[in-house]
Amino acid sequence: MEQVTCIVLGGGFAGIHAMKAIHQAFHEQKDRMELNLILMDKLEAHVRKVLLFQPAASGEPITVPWKQLLPEGVRFVQGAATHIDHERKQLHYQDQNGNEKKLPFDKLVVAVGSMAEKHASDQGGFSLIDTDSARDIRIKWMANLEQAAKTSNSLEKRRLMCAAVAGAGITGVETAAELAHAMKAESLRIGLDPHDVQVHLFNAKARLFQEGPVKVSHKIERTLAACGVTVHHQCKALYEKDGLLNVSSRKSLPVGLTIWTLGLKPNPILLQLSLPLTKDEQVKVDASYRVNGRPNIYSIGDCAHIVDPITGIADGMTCKEAIPQAQRLGSVLYADMTGGTAPQHKNVITSFTIGLGPDRGNVDTQMGA
Ligand SMILES: Cc1cc2nc3c(=O)[nH]c(=O)nc-3n(C[C@H](O)[C@H](O)[C@H](O)COP(=O)(O)OP(=O)(O)OC[C@H]3O[C@@H](n4cnc5c(N)ncnc54)[C@H](O)[C@@H]3O)c2cc1C
Repeated sequence: MEQVTCIVLGGGFAGIHAMKAIHQAFHEQKDRMELNLILMDKLEAHVRKVLLFQPAASGEPITVPWKQLLPEGVRFVQGAATHIDHERKQLHYQDQNGNEKKLPFDKLVVAVGSMAEKHASDQGGFSLIDTDSARDIRIKWMANLEQAAKTSNSLEKRRLMCAAVAGAGITGVETAAELAHAMKAESLRIGLDPHDVQVHLFNAKARLFQEGPVKVSHKIERTLAACGVTVHHQCKALYEKDGLLNVSSRKSLPVGLTIWTLGLKPNPILLQLSLPLTKDEQVKVDASYRVNGRPNIYSIGDCAHIVDPITGIADGMTCKEAIPQAQRLGSVLYADMTGGTAPQHKNVITSFTIGLGPDRGNVDTQMGA
């Protein structure tokens, strides 16, 4: 029986769903082909990245053990990929002890995703980029409130109870709402007046959620106001120094904490993997996710530039788009290995869900509505 080793590199939303789809596609053919399916990720557990604001605000954990997610028979290897030897079809990686190792593959799916953009170190504050930075953010605002409860200086108390979120994409909106809720709850618990909590959201654009309809922008803003979040449009946070946040309208705001949520960029590890990249450093693939000029390698999710061949529209960096790509990839791989016709990508994004704190629920919107 033919034996095939397929490595899925990266266990984010794209990688996890790709594992399931590939496993299912080949399961039906297990009498003809033995599939050795391996998931490699540098982390010891899957991180539910869309909920990154939760450990920053409420402290809720967002990791899920790999064994809860992997189909039976799939092997997990913890390692950080460093290089692809295209000629020998080997994936080089560093294990958790820093040892250099390699794994041979017949098929490789690159799903190393994206990273949050970081603010410059002289801008002060914290970027919300991973679970460690989320934890640091929570430690900071909790310490601020503790200090506020002790001080008799009303201006200083006001500053310590004020936080700013710089960057008003979906992550910024969700972080501001969740943070306002968590800071108010903690204030109440330690004897501060929750009404004194202020959260300011700085939006460089003219309205929130520019990719959706105007009425949804207004709805989000109304809900944020009810949560205690003040939105500043066409106003950029510049830098925080000595407890003052300087903003592009030339004003400054006394703050105890600034959180930067500046959007996503493709994972910079792609530069080391000798794959063809676009000018925005995403992997170039065809309409069935095959990497250009690299037989046996596929790429999906935030790290890939995926274009609908009919509409010419490129997918964005969202899990709403990554998941259907992953589901289709199972059939693509199966077709490529059995001589069938591989399906082609189709852009599916029709709606967004934006979380606005535990007590306000979500705003759901249909695109183009
Ligand atoms: C705070 C935040 C909020 C978001 N909210 C939403 C939302 O509400 N709705 C929505 O649709 N999308 C949202 N997104 C976007 C969504 O999270 C991404 O589109 C989605 O996670 C992409 O999945 P992915 O698998 O391509 O990449 P990632 O989720 O980035 O996964 C990549 C995986 O690869 C691993 N990896 C990276 N480098 C290596 C390496 N060298 N070796 C081995 N493993 C490696 C990582 O550990 C990770 O597990 C949000 C993103 C953030 C950051």
